[in-house]
Amino acid sequence: MRGVRRLSGIWRGASFSLKFAAVILVAGVTIAVVPLMLAEASARTQAESSAADRVSVASNLIAGQRASLASFIAGVGRQLAADRDVSVTSAVRATLTEDASVIGTDDVLGVLQTGGGVVAVQGSTPVAGALTDTVVRAVSVGATTVATPEGGAWMVAASRIPGTAAMAFVARPLTAAFINTVAHNIDTATAPVGILLIRGDRTVAMAGNVHAVTQALATSISTSPPSIVSLDSHRFAAASTSIGAGLTLAVVTPFSGPPVGWQSILLLLAVILVAMLFIVVVVQIDLRRPLQRLDVAVAALGSGDFDRPVDAGSVDEVGRLGASFEAMRTQVRSTMRITACRAAVAMELSHAQPLEGALAAVCAELRRSMDVDMAMIVVSGSEMSDPFAVADGGRRIAFDGFLEGQGPLGEGYRYAGLGAIVLGATADAPEARLDVREFCVAPLRVGKHVHGVLAVAGQNSTFTAGDSDLVASTAEQISLALERYRFLAVVQRQASVDDLTGLYNHRFLIDSLGQQVALAERLAAPLAILMLDIDHFKALNDTHGHHAGDLALISFAQTVLGNVRRADLTARYGGEEFVVLMPNTSAREAFLVAEKIRVAVAATDVQLPDRPPVHLSVSVGAAAYPENTDNAAELFGLADAALYQAKRMGRDRTCLSRRASPAMVQDAPVNQSESNVGTGNRRSSE
Ligand code: GH3
Ligand code: MG
Ligand code: MG
Repeated sequence: MRGVRRLSGIWRGASFSLKFAAVILVAGVTIAVVPLMLAEASARTQAESSAADRVSVASNLIAGQRASLASFIAGVGRQLAADRDVSVTSAVRATLTEDASVIGTDDVLGVLQTGGGVVAVQGSTPVAGALTDTVVRAVSVGATTVATPEGGAWMVAASRIPGTAAMAFVARPLTAAFINTVAHNIDTATAPVGILLIRGDRTVAMAGNVHAVTQALATSISTSPPSIVSLDSHRFAAASTSIGAGLTLAVVTPFSGPPVGWQSILLLLAVILVAMLFIVVVVQIDLRRPLQRLDVAVAALGSGDFDRPVDAGSVDEVGRLGASFEAMRTQVRSTMRITACRAAVAMELSHAQPLEGALAAVCAELRRSMDVDMAMIVVSGSEMSDPFAVADGGRRIAFDGFLEGQGPLGEGYRYAGLGAIVLGATADAPEARLDVREFCVAPLRVGKHVHGVLAVAGQNSTFTAGDSDLVASTAEQISLALERYRFLAVVQRQASVDDLTGLYNHRFLIDSLGQQVALAERLAAPLAILMLDIDHFKALNDTHGHHAGDLALISFAQTVLGNVRRADLTARYGGEEFVVLMPNTSAREAFLVAEKIRVAVAATDVQLPDRPPVHLSVSVGAAAYPENTDNAAELFGLADAALYQAKRMGRDRTCLSRRASPAMVQDAPVNQSESNVGTGNRRSSE
């Protein structure tokens, strides 16, 4: 069990080449050996059956010999009965000697006389002794084959001499010569035979054309059934039959096995080895290496490296597998690139940073991840900003006229369909000066409003469907961001502007005041502030109604705005109180501006619907840094105090703060009582 597990472990761990080689080896050996074994078995059966046939023929030949001996001895018996008195030995011997001339010289011819005497001759020579006794004993028991104690064997026939109790007999020795004769009768040129006469495990006689038929073979041959026996390096098909008296007649023929020999097997094995080598090489080149390449490439994909191409290599199954992996890789890489780019763009656009900076970062991100020469965003003008453009690609280009032109950006800006479009720049298009030819553009659209256009471009870029998707989805992200910026700008503006008058509101004023004060102190630049309060405004409200009051506030705001510089900041501080913040303005200049406003207000009639116009007057308090204070943060309080002074002094006048900063007192005293400009020609001082 452990062995099987080990083997299966080795098999699993083995390379393709080894497995294929092993399979080829097993298959080849099976293909070679099985037919050989079948051929061997068939050849054996054939040889055995042929040997059996031959032993049967040999046995029949011996039987024929025996039959002719029997008829011969019957004739001798009849002759003896007719011619002689069988009791006369000399007469019998004479007849026997005469008859013996027609049989073999080794044959023994004899008569067993009635009284027990034996007359026997061999050729013409009388014989006696042990051989005769053995033959006579066999004859008396009716045997036809005799084995003598000396190891000889005889074929015997006997016949009673008619009219007597005597018996004539003939014995023929089963010698090598006799057997050789039989062998010659069953021999063929292609299949020589050897014949053995065996008794027990001893060879009585042997003959034939088979070389190496020796005594040693006798021990290997059994009486039945026919079989293949081996002696030294030779093999024989042997069949045998019993011929009586414990004697076995065996026929052997050389057996060389099937016509296909071990040489053929060796040749086949050599062919198999060559085939194995060939397969190993083919597998190595055509399967293993491509699979290894595929393995490395797919492992790289598994570890997240989607930039390394999968080499398809060939057009077979492995090649097709590689091509499928390559398609999957490009798909996944494109998806990942799009996802990463979207995430990066989303992050840039969600950062709290100026719009142009965010859009420039988006262009850089797009150019990097799409590997294009240029990425650009052109934004049309809106309430939030003037038209502007950002681009990434190392060029500083004027984008004027692109949105209105007939080139790719103009087309993309006006494109009403979904997604992005791929366009080329013609020589007369304004984009021709960008030195890039292929464009992938998408409008920056939210609902019906188009904010601008996004474009990526390259000199030799070919844009895929994935690229178009990325440009389209990025355009969507940018559009939403622009919409968000626009919304924020509107909200910001709303949060800093007074609804009624359109001037900055209280909060914006406070924020700006902090900034202006800090700036003035750091730069040591002058800063002046005016506080304005409409006189008797409550009375106007009471007399003409709240709406008339509102109209008066609007009219007043316009008058103030018309008399200050663009760099000045005018805010409604609250109710009918206003503030003008004037950077780089001295106390004297501030006083002059205040008077200008005051005079203009007094000169402006406020038109009311269905009513006669009303007049307004205003009181103004002014203070300036650094003349009134060396601490700019105190300016607001000083101006307020000056305003209070103006009110107290009868309204419709300007009062400049009387405070002098310590530094100014030493340098050059300021005339604090200077006023007297305006309709009221009033002076103001605190
Ligand atoms: P003085 O000359 O001392 O400044 O007197 P005055 O009546 O102008 O001052 P007072 O502070 O007593 O009244 C200010 C009035 O301004 C009270 C309020 O009803 C009115 N007012 C404040 N805000 C608005 C506004 O937005 N619209 C209108 N119609 N009236 C407003
Ligand atoms: Mg007031
Ligand atoms: Mg007032």
